[in-house]
Amino acid sequence: MTTFPSTFPIDPADMPALKRWLASQDDQSSLRSVNIGEILVGPDVLLQLPAVLRRAGISSGMTTLLVMDETPMRREEQDLKPFVQALLHNAGYHVETLWLKGDQYGLVHADFEQVERVQAAISPGAALVALGSGTVTDIAKHAAHLYDHERAKGDSVYICCQTANSVTAFAANMAVLLKDGVKRTIPSRYPTAIISDLRVLASAPKAMTVAGLGDCCARFVAYGDWYLASVLGLVDFYSEVPLALLANLDTVLLEYAAAIGQRTHEGEAVVARALLLAGIAQSIVNMSAPISGSEHVTSHVLDMIADHYGRGLALHGAQVGVATITAAQLYQQFLDSLDSLDPQHIDIAACYPDDASLKAHIQQLFSSIDPSGAMAQECWSDYSQKLALWRSNRPHFEQFCANWHNLHRPKLASLVCPPHIVHTILAQAGAPLVPQDLDPPISQEEYDFAVQNGHFIRVRFVLGDLLYFLGLAMKKGNNAGV
Ligand SMILES: [Zn+2]
Repeated sequence: MTTFPSTFPIDPADMPALKRWLASQDDQSSLRSVNIGEILVGPDVLLQLPAVLRRAGISSGMTTLLVMDETPMRREEQDLKPFVQALLHNAGYHVETLWLKGDQYGLVHADFEQVERVQAAISPGAALVALGSGTVTDIAKHAAHLYDHERAKGDSVYICCQTANSVTAFAANMAVLLKDGVKRTIPSRYPTAIISDLRVLASAPKAMTVAGLGDCCARFVAYGDWYLASVLGLVDFYSEVPLALLANLDTVLLEYAAAIGQRTHEGEAVVARALLLAGIAQSIVNMSAPISGSEHVTSHVLDMIADHYGRGLALHGAQVGVATITAAQLYQQFLDSLDSLDPQHIDIAACYPDDASLKAHIQQLFSSIDPSGAMAQECWSDYSQKLALWRSNRPHFEQFCANWHNLHRPKLASLVCPPHIVHTILAQAGAPLVPQDLDPPISQEEYDFAVQNGHFIRVRFVLGDLLYFLGLAMKKGNNAGV
């Protein structure tokens, strides 16, 4: 008997097919269109950059603004950045290069200062070409978005040349940017085209590919959070179209995990497609909820407290992968605790803390990390909205408890992946499994703080919120025990 390799329901590199698939889904009125001209995935697609520019209306003789950070990168034997400069130059383009500068650790931060620098460098009629991974992509993408917004002349040409399989940012029309030290997902724009060259992706450090794998694993728990938010009345909109787009994610990743760890082109192509689909999955519903819940807030807190603990930032997706194992464990404990939501065992009134005590709690949590109080203020401004929604939707919570056993518990179990599956995928690929595996390693103390307090930093409702309101202490994340 022949077994066929598992595949995703749709190939993101076949944009016409993807658009047809989306058009065939129910709830059309609530789905956003995907305004990406083309996505190329293959071993030599970088060589098509001049052709991609021409198809986007940027012909030889015109200007390309090439945005990069200062990290040396390779495409097998070649030095990638001079290679792309020469590729554009030889195709007749006038190449302007903008180098993004890093901090004392050499890291470029996706903040508004960087965005403004890029925006100021875009000239009318020029194409913006971002050559980099997540941070460069978010900065360039949002610069193009603000530029378009300011000029109100439609979308300018922005080409995303992905240099690592590290995050879901490439195909997403949202950007994750720092605001007062807190990561915020904000509406941005799609790229005109994406070039995912497998020789480039396989030449990036392994840590980046396995980080990208970790970032797509977020889907395995984030859908549970989104479902909870929806049935508890904290979001107006919930759709399973993004879930369908990422159907088979567990089977595909299990099948290719070893190949991903070995850096084969097949493995890189699977991570690239998963990340592209994940970016599109969030964009069609105009929110990152399908792939960003508990695990992402844990990762965001780890970034927020890094300075305080005197360390650099670990890779986003690597943190997300580790935090996904923990979140999957928390879900399993929650689903297994038979009486936790039994109406007869819950004191519903006790699940509604007052504003003053929570505001003081958040101020106290972040007081040593940011003595200026700005971080706590930014968190409270989001969290207070969530608290108000939680309070005004009390009938939803009562209904939820009443239907816990027959409806919500089995539904949640179907949406959330068991921790051992996530653990197996990440372990077989050689990805970090515990916070101490991260680079730089993160202490258990910092990690536990992030797991326990992630839900305080933003408006999105996650399992941690429900556990907090129920007075259920979150057990400390010990991924080693999976
Ligand atoms: Zn992410």
